[in-house]
Amino acid sequence: MSTNKPMPVPTSISAPFWGGLKEGRILMQHCGDCQKWTFYPRRHCSHCMSHNVEFREVSGEGELYTYTVARVPTLPEFAGPEPQLLAVVELDEGVRINTTLVGLGADQVEIGMRVKPVRARVSEDGTVLLRFTGAEVGLSEVDEVPKQPEAAADADAQAVRKIPLSDDAALQALVSEEFSEWSNQVLVDQDMINQFAELSGDDYWIHTDPDRARKEGPFGGTIAHGALVQILMSRLQVPLGFEITGFTNMVNYGSQRLRFPSPVPAGSLIHARGRVKSVEKSRRGTQLVLELNVHVVGQERPAVINDLIILYM
Ligand SMILES: [Zn+2]
Repeated sequence: MSTNKPMPVPTSISAPFWGGLKEGRILMQHCGDCQKWTFYPRRHCSHCMSHNVEFREVSGEGELYTYTVARVPTLPEFAGPEPQLLAVVELDEGVRINTTLVGLGADQVEIGMRVKPVRARVSEDGTVLLRFTGAEVGLSEVDEVPKQPEAAADADAQAVRKIPLSDDAALQALVSEEFSEWSNQVLVDQDMINQFAELSGDDYWIHTDPDRARKEGPFGGTIAHGALVQILMSRLQVPLGFEITGFTNMVNYGSQRLRFPSPVPAGSLIHARGRVKSVEKSRRGTQLVLELNVHVVGQERPAVINDLIILYM
């Protein structure tokens, strides 16, 4: 999930609307001359141009005018969690609001359905955005304040099984289709990407030039190098739940498969999980293939798939 989503900047005209949301009230402009409603906030009535407009509280109930399912973020800053249900809601007062539906699966959404407001707290200073959900859904508030990266689970608290390299049956029993729990999270910000660009010499603009990447790039902003995300694996402690003992030497023998299926936009939190794909004995020693997948937090599609070969001798 991105940690640098743009925040609303209240102006003297829109401040009552944003202030109202913080207090839990939805305020819309009502025209004293033509009695119609206006949204977004402005100096005049959008129907008759009268300046005789005042903010009044409304219920926020209405119906879904239209929507779309965004399976990739519309801009990197809006990443996670996907898919996002981008919608236009028409309040009973007649105004239409661009918004996001929450608390509903894509298959539960129907144009014309009744909707009600949800207050989404998006920053520590109490800023609230107006989201919507189905009239029947028991949801009135959501917490979307960006979180600091989550620390790894306390190593002492994890049950780590020690498995001797000589125990073939126990080693084979590690092989599983099931992935582990998630690791700790790491923030991939522009500063880190710039440092990697300098170190590696790969300073292609799609990584290092936010302005150009926003205007010309396919992702609407800069993205991390695939190789950077791959090596950040070293900072992600995947709770695999076992430790192999009784070997003289352990080497990273490379990778059976390395893929970068989806981008990591600057400002993303990443985490990883893994599974043992195979254990094989050879003349060289015991070869364990660990499938490690790095994801942007909240994204189903991995950013990196690495089938890492570890050789125990
Ligand atoms: Zn009017």
